[in-house]
Amino acid sequence: MEKMRVAVVGYGGMGGWHVEHLLKSDVCELAGIYDIKEERCALATSRGIYAYPSYESLLADKTVELITVAIPNDVHEEVVIAALNAGKNVICEKPVTLSLESLDRMIAAAEKNGVRFSTHQNRRWDVDYLAMQKIHDSGEIGKVLNIESRIHGSRGIPSDWRGEREHGGGMLYDWGIHLIDQVMMVFGWAEIKSVYCICDNITNRVVDDGFRLDIVFTSGQRATIEVGTYNFIAMPRFYLRAEKGTALITDWREEAKVVKCKYWHENDVLPVKTAAGLTKTMAPRDDVTTETYSVAKPVSDVHDYYRHFVKAIREGCEQDVTYDQMRIDLKIILSAFKSAETGLPVEF
Ligand code: NAD
Repeated sequence: MEKMRVAVVGYGGMGGWHVEHLLKSDVCELAGIYDIKEERCALATSRGIYAYPSYESLLADKTVELITVAIPNDVHEEVVIAALNAGKNVICEKPVTLSLESLDRMIAAAEKNGVRFSTHQNRRWDVDYLAMQKIHDSGEIGKVLNIESRIHGSRGIPSDWRGEREHGGGMLYDWGIHLIDQVMMVFGWAEIKSVYCICDNITNRVVDDGFRLDIVFTSGQRATIEVGTYNFIAMPRFYLRAEKGTALITDWREEAKVVKCKYWHENDVLPVKTAAGLTKTMAPRDDVTTETYSVAKPVSDVHDYYRHFVKAIREGCEQDVTYDQMRIDLKIILSAFKSAETGLPVEF
């Protein structure tokens, strides 16, 4: 297949990532970059990458079929819509934008111009999440009751636009959008009943520097998503309870551990001493009543993101991240903000 020519707008941290990884996908070639900061353009040039002198000159380049937008969250809409109106297909970094009205305008522009538009949910290729998806889909430990997904760091929020409200800063938009998307993938985009969220402001008073988000599905299944940037000891990355067992991933580098219940011996439990008391309820299990095993890390290649999107453009097939999914992910975040503000659950 002929390679697609791609330009990247915003040559910062993530723009640099795209420049490298779109080439590794083997389906794209790099036309160049555009950044509003001259020093970023100069850096690109020093690395042998063409830097467009203006955004207009990039849009006027007829050889460019796809534009990847990797700029701060508050300016996604205007840059994306200009690209769509110039007839370019667009990948926009996450969070795609900051309101549902804004997202609708972007989708309308893509539809009007007959081009593809999607957002970069690269963490659908994270192997820890994929292991949880595998455990859920295999049905090995029965119907999943709840999932807890956590990312804990201790360095606070980055001291750039991510710490400022007007630029769409904060951890819900930064990490939350990935973890929400992963949980929704695991539950197959099941119908949501309500969203409840508490935000942290430990090192930053202006935007959330962490949060705990509870999603309740109409099926009664639940998801808890937690991001912390002031946690000097991290909680496990994933915890999953199902009708016939429990799964755990302590750290994204580790394999998933599963404990499956083999026999439900309620009667012959011997009481054990714990702290200053005696308990039967919390007596540990042995390997006669349970089976413990690991789930090998699934094989994954994040370059499939570009491969699949280029295929969707060329062959007209469905894209990985659909408009409906983009809307639901964003609506969960906006509901989470509302819940954090009011202190109440928000009906979805
Ligand atoms: P950054 O601050 O490192 O880089 C942003 C760049 O955009 C800067 O060089 C800036 O000069 C440039 N810029 C700003 N406005 C512009 C405009 N109108 N036109 C052209 N250039 C402009 O930020 P970053 O970490 O690269 O984040 C960019 C986007 O990528 C954000 O939406 C962020 O949420 C997302 N991101 C995604 C991931 C991921 O894993 N998917 C990881 C990090 C960041």
